[in-house]
Amino acid sequence: MARLVVIGAGIVGLSLARAASLRGHEVRVLEQGPVPNPQAASHDRHRMIRYPYGSAAGYTRMVTEAFSAWERLWQDLGACHFENTGAIAISLEPGDYAEKTRETFRAIGLPHDVLDRQGVEALCPHLVLPARAWGVTAFPGGPLFAADILRDLTAWLQARNVPIEGGCTVVSVDEAQGVAHLADGTTRQGDMVVVAAGAWLPRLMPDRYGQVPVYRQALLYVEPPAAHAQSWRDAPAIAALGDHTGYTLPDRRGAGLKIGYSAHRRRALPDVDGFDADLEWESGAILGAFRPYFRDFEGYRPLRMQVGYYTLDPSRRFLFARHGQAVVITQCDGQMFKFGPLIGERVLDMVEGKLAFSDLAHWAAGH
Ligand SMILES: Cc1cc2nc3c(=O)[nH]c(=O)nc-3n(C[C@H](O)[C@H](O)[C@H](O)COP(=O)(O)OP(=O)(O)OC[C@H]3O[C@@H](n4cnc5c(N)ncnc54)[C@H](O)[C@@H]3O)c2cc1C
Repeated sequence: MARLVVIGAGIVGLSLARAASLRGHEVRVLEQGPVPNPQAASHDRHRMIRYPYGSAAGYTRMVTEAFSAWERLWQDLGACHFENTGAIAISLEPGDYAEKTRETFRAIGLPHDVLDRQGVEALCPHLVLPARAWGVTAFPGGPLFAADILRDLTAWLQARNVPIEGGCTVVSVDEAQGVAHLADGTTRQGDMVVVAAGAWLPRLMPDRYGQVPVYRQALLYVEPPAAHAQSWRDAPAIAALGDHTGYTLPDRRGAGLKIGYSAHRRRALPDVDGFDADLEWESGAILGAFRPYFRDFEGYRPLRMQVGYYTLDPSRRFLFARHGQAVVITQCDGQMFKFGPLIGERVLDMVEGKLAFSDLAHWAAGH
């Protein structure tokens, strides 16, 4: 039996704790905020899981494994916090994300459908697309109800008497000894410390990770024109709209219609820049990016913003690193939620010696 100390109660830390508890290890979770923490990257009403991943064949394949891991979580929780709306990538130009996605699907034999423009507009009548547009859809895919998942996973761990210490800030990690040093001067020791600290990693381990780029991203909840409300509920999640970096999550289970625009992100730090958003200005920047594609664009009404932070480097690959008795999980990007339970299981395979660390890191990097 191993003793694990997990830093961070986002989807990765909580999933690790679940996998450890299920396999009979001793595990403790340390979280600087409340648990769940509404400022964690993992927190929002919904997060997307989708097969369309451009030319990233490794991550496309990993989505199949991720769905199996979610299924095991639903069994434990006794509730399924996912809706299978499917996910679509819409092509606007030759060689764009959707075309790369279609090539990847063909190369790895993943079932999918290719739709012409009329087919896409039949699924998404709220869109206006250029004549050359087409789309590729894959199932399953759609919204994972993140806040419900974090809440139920926390309760599940508490019911199994897994210690989850909220309001507990770790100020440093002794990598050689597997010790977390807390702000109150106490320590927590394990055979291994797993650091899943999201955007706060550079603050926690400045010598190794002080230069890791941290980005602020803001997503926008909108009320569509009444004529399109139902079609936005019925539509698949839009994973890509050309190379425009926009995406949408359908309004299911009352979560609301959410739109994102990856290009809106900027370098910032959560402790410095905070979680406020200027609804008027920022919603204009995000919603405005969809102006050419939303039918009856003037009828969309911004409701609220959700701000989050993540680490991301130009490789756009997850980074797992080992330093003595510490394992660090980082470069989570705007991508890791969907893989949370799967990552928890794989890291435990490594802890139990079933998987070499180098193989784990290689897999996590999407190779
Ligand atoms: C706006 C946005 C949209 C996204 N959309 C998607 C999506 O659609 N699909 C998808 O798959 N992924 C998406 N992601 C990415 C995904 O949410 C993250 O990659 C994932 O949630 C990271 O989980 P985590 O547990 O590693 O980090 P986090 O959820 O950030 O959790 C880290 C936790 O560690 C705690 N912590 C940090 N430092 C310390 C310390 N020193 N001591 C104690 N506790 C500490 C923090 O308080 C926090 O609770 C999105 C991210 C953002 C920000």
